[in-house]
Amino acid sequence: MFVENSEKNRNICRSYCGTCPSYDKECGKLLFCSLGNINTEIAKKGCKCGMCPVAIEHKLDGSYYCIHGNLDTFG
Ligand code: SF4
Ligand code: SF4
Repeated sequence: MFVENSEKNRNICRSYCGTCPSYDKECGKLLFCSLGNINTEIAKKGCKCGMCPVAIEHKLDGSYYCIHGNLDTFG
């Protein structure tokens, strides 16, 4: 399901991506499931998307959106 780039979703993402061990703090970007991935090399150290309320509400079942983006948004 399409994810809106809303303040509410960004705030939720900040609590999940923002505290994720894989998160690229340098990029400062959030809401990868809406805005797409980033093009830098990311080491996979775990992903919190699975327990994120935005993912649950939008029935997302993937992970590592910072690496792969979200095909529901860009498909
Ligand atoms: S998309 Fe997943 S792996 Fe990437 S920063 Fe967010 S929670 Fe972590
Ligand atoms: S599903 Fe992942 S990328 Fe999307 S808001 Fe939640 S933590 Fe952030």
